[in-house]
This record gives sequence, structure tokens and C-alpha cells, in this order.
Amino acid sequence: MSFFHNMIDRDRVFDFLVPEVSPVDVRHGPILYLEDVSVSFDGFKAINDLSLTIDDGELRCIIGPNGAGKTTMMDIITGKTRPDSGSVWFGSRHDLLTRNEPEIARLGIGRKFQKPTVFEALSVFENLELSMACDKSLWPSLTARLSGEVNDRIDEVLSTIGLKGQARRPAGILSHGQKQWLEIGMLLMQRPRLLLVDEPVAGMTEQEMARTAELLTGLAGKHSVVVVEHDMGFVRSIARTVTVLHQGSVLAEGSMDQVASDPRVVEVYLGGDEEAA
Ligand code: ADP
Ligand code: MG
Repeated sequence: MSFFHNMIDRDRVFDFLVPEVSPVDVRHGPILYLEDVSVSFDGFKAINDLSLTIDDGELRCIIGPNGAGKTTMMDIITGKTRPDSGSVWFGSRHDLLTRNEPEIARLGIGRKFQKPTVFEALSVFENLELSMACDKSLWPSLTARLSGEVNDRIDEVLSTIGLKGQARRPAGILSHGQKQWLEIGMLLMQRPRLLLVDEPVAGMTEQEMARTAELLTGLAGKHSVVVVEHDMGFVRSIARTVTVLHQGSVLAEGSMDQVASDPRVVEVYLGGDEEAA
């Protein structure tokens, strides 16, 4: 075979094109570590000496009233917002404050925003396929897109998100809940170590919420999952450890029952439209 044919061999992985990403080291500590993180917007401290750790494989729920700093915290972890002070580490090896957004994504941190952003005209299968191709560290898979490995991965993700029967249908005709699952599937295609999920059940039916609870709890163990959510019934259904944010720092942390009966937590929810439990 000629050199050129060798070059375009579909299943060939070009090592020199794959950027080096050193693995996340969690042997001696948490997968995510925030210490004394602060950020101000026009003099207002949105995040105020925030310290928080997430263990490898953990499912953590973050709750807190509007404006508590939940989304800003995710912006800091993903490199969208730079804090004024503090440290943010991914495992013991990666100082996230020295990385930009694409680098952080490539290290294995996936983020799901509130609004689903699937490609409506493409099929469910194609959406998953595309999200793999978009992963620059897997760029050679563009040429190997129909390889068995990619198909197997798509199949696996379709089962996980419960959309096997919808694989060939356009994403545009999926229900709101199904679109949210597809978007989680698109993140899973890149095998993230840590998944950040912002308000996954907003606008979902009860049935879709129950299915989402199953999906997220099933991901824990294989991935570390951080869920920010307002719906207390939903949080109760999936919660192991719950962290309550208030005015940019941790107000309480523990089991759902512990935080829900904490007088400080009850107080910050009083007068709001959310119930404490
Ligand atoms: P949550 O997600 O818990 O509701 P946010 O993290 O969105 O809270 O916001 C925390 C506070 O920081 C709010 O008072 C918000 O108005 C403010 N804030 C967030 N991002 C910005 C920004 N880019 N510029 C100015 N203020 C911001
Ligand atoms: Mg928010």
C-alpha cells in the first residue's frame, strides 16, 4: 500500500496528532478540589471563599437560592470565569486555573447547560456521532467515523440514555426530556471523568424526572457527577451528599435530611418560592 493510502487508512490513529493529556490522579485525594475561591463582579462577591471537594465517582447535589453562586461556580470549574483568588484542582495533577475552556473540556470535564442544544435536523445517532468527532483529542475518528469502535460506543450510550428506539429519528421530534437525555449522551460520548449538570429536570414531566433520576444515579461510580437543581423532590430522589450554597459559599453539607433540618438552611429558603425539603 502506498504511503498515501496508509495515511488515510480509516482506522488508523495518528499518535502525533493526539494531544497529550496526562491522566487525572485521584489516588491521594478528591477528583475536584476548590479552596478559598472568590470572584467579584463590579464589587459584588458572587463567590466568597468557597471551598468544596468532590470525590471520584461521587454524585453530588448542589442546591441554594437564586443568586447563591451555583452557575458561577460551574463557570469557574470549566474555565469560563477566572476567580480573583483561590485554587481549583482536577485530581492532584491539573491546576484548572492555568487552563482555558477547551483544555479543561479535554481533560475530561463535561458540562450540560440548562437549555438543550442538540442538532434538531440530525438523527439521534448522528448527534452522538458528531459529538465524538467534535472531541479534538479524537480527531482521527473523523476518518474512522464508521469504525466498529465508534458504533459500539454510540450503541452503549443509546442504551444508557434510553433512546435506542429513537436512534434514526430526527432529534427535533424528541420530547423535551428526551432532548435533555440526548445532550447528556453527547457529553458521555467523550467519556468525561466529571459531569456538571445545571438544572436537568426543569420543564420535565414526572415520568421524565424519574427516568432522569435513574440515568444520573446510574452514571455515578463510572463518572463523578455534580447536579445543580432547584426541584427539591428531585434532589431528594437522587441525593447522597447535598451541598447548600448561599452568598457564594457553603452554608451546609450532609445528607438531604441533615441539610433540610438545618435551621440556617431553612432560614435562607424562607420567603423564597422554593421549599427547603
Ligand atoms: P445561581 O446560579 O446560584 O442562581 P449565579 O451564579 O448565576 O447564581 O449568580 C450569583 C450572583 O452573581 C448573582 O447575584 C448574579 O447576578 C451575579 N453574577 C453572575 N454572573 C455575573 C456576571 N457575569 N456579571 C455580573 N454579575 C454576575
Ligand atoms: Mg444558576
